[in-house]
Amino acid sequence: MTVGSLLALQLVGVVFVALALVGAAVIGLARLARRDFHPDDDLRRVVHTLTTLLAWFLLTVTFLPLKGSEAFVKAGRLTTIQLNMIGLATVLVSGFVLGWVIAWLAVGVRRFLSHRLTPPGIRTLAGGLGVACLALALIGPGARTSAPTARAAPPAARVAIIGVDGCDWDMLGPLVESGRLPTFERLMDEGTYGPLLSFSPLVSPRIWTTIATGRDPSEHGIEDFVNDDGVPVNASMRRVPTVWEIVSSSGGTVNVIGWYVTWPVDDVRGVMVSDRMHTLVRGPLQALHSLSGRPTDDRLEEFGRFTFDPAYERYEKSDAAYQRNRIVDEPLRWGYLRDTIYGKAAETAIPQYRPDFVAVYYRGVDFVQHFFWQYSMPDAFENVDAQAVRTYGDVIPNYYEYQDALLARLLDALGPDMSVIIVSDHGFTARLDGDPSKPQLTGMHDARGVYIASGPAFRRGGLVEGPTILDIAPTALAVMGLPVSGEMDGRVLDEIIHPEHLRANPVTTVPTYGADVRGEQQEVESTMDESIRDQLRSLGYIE
Ligand SMILES: [Zn+2]
Repeated sequence: MTVGSLLALQLVGVVFVALALVGAAVIGLARLARRDFHPDDDLRRVVHTLTTLLAWFLLTVTFLPLKGSEAFVKAGRLTTIQLNMIGLATVLVSGFVLGWVIAWLAVGVRRFLSHRLTPPGIRTLAGGLGVACLALALIGPGARTSAPTARAAPPAARVAIIGVDGCDWDMLGPLVESGRLPTFERLMDEGTYGPLLSFSPLVSPRIWTTIATGRDPSEHGIEDFVNDDGVPVNASMRRVPTVWEIVSSSGGTVNVIGWYVTWPVDDVRGVMVSDRMHTLVRGPLQALHSLSGRPTDDRLEEFGRFTFDPAYERYEKSDAAYQRNRIVDEPLRWGYLRDTIYGKAAETAIPQYRPDFVAVYYRGVDFVQHFFWQYSMPDAFENVDAQAVRTYGDVIPNYYEYQDALLARLLDALGPDMSVIIVSDHGFTARLDGDPSKPQLTGMHDARGVYIASGPAFRRGGLVEGPTILDIAPTALAVMGLPVSGEMDGRVLDEIIHPEHLRANPVTTVPTYGADVRGEQQEVESTMDESIRDQLRSLGYIE
């Protein structure tokens, strides 16, 4: 849900309430003019109308934007549509009933006061209430933003872990050399970089959770795309704390945007946008965009950089140009929109909150590499069509360029004092034993991923080999000056930390961060599970 569309929704409610107020005033004035004003009846009617409208609005804003998704945890065998109908009925009935209860109370209070107090007494009380409300309205927002919360000493460094799923040196390296990725290049020049060793099975949810926790999958509990019962994994199934939970419990602030397996979000000090947010934003936003026209064109203009004619749907379906564009459109749209949405979320949230720790995750590079690897690396395959190589050969490089631009905007948002670690969960290689029913899936995961560490707390030192996905979490904690958990399976990568920073902030450990940081979790399922399974099937991740 973007701020813009939320505001639009709220505006609808405000207009409703304003209309109701005008209506109530007109009715009241008409009665006054006719001198048949019955204070109790009219008060009850006005309060009921206003409260009902307000309650409907609030309940709608709370639940309906989340339709078909996480507002309702899947109950028994009910479908999404049934759940939504129940939700709508609940909103209407409960708003109406709430309206009557409050109207009845209001009349009761008015009667009570008029029996107990003289008219000047009522005026004094009303005046006092008015002043109190005004004071609350003025002080309230200020109090929220400036409320001091208990925090330990500030962290030794601000740290951001930036996840680029599937980022691979064979693709990234030559593109950096050719000057097409200036942001990656700058970070490499100013820091250290090298392969990041991952562990089989190379399944993204388990690896991203290992990166975030520093723990082996057998300990953190996220082992595959789905659990033993076929339910797509979610954060309620994770058994150990993440870096952001540890930072948060130590008094630091965090922004976590779109990281794999973060629905439902954790209880942290700061902002967390789960990795299922984009599925909510896409539907209503796209509907709005297609009504207004322009934003879609803007979006497609940038989308067009991926060797793609945004207007292709107007062609005949039998047309070769239609087919050619469709191959790009279908697999790209999903990753591109996802990255754009979380990119925007990160660029908006981070400058506002200036958190001590940031984790942002981008998905699209992995996605395009699954579908277009043979056109970028034709030599690894037998007989890739030369015309197709010319047509699609730049899709992956163009996506890396887009990722580089996203990275540049993110770094702007993070600020120059942020030390960043870019990581990928795995690299890529040619899939030669491809499934004939899915001939387009020509790239597959490879254990050698990417890391680049750069910023004030890190050393400038070129290539460093040896880091693994287990080392990122303990290193991030150490750089921030927080104790490393003895339960973590990796080590602090002191060879990439600036020696002065390390001297000023020697590595300390605690045996465990334990249940104080992350207690016992109640596992949940979601109405989105079926659509997530469909998507995993289309990628060949599950049967
Ligand atoms: Zn993948």
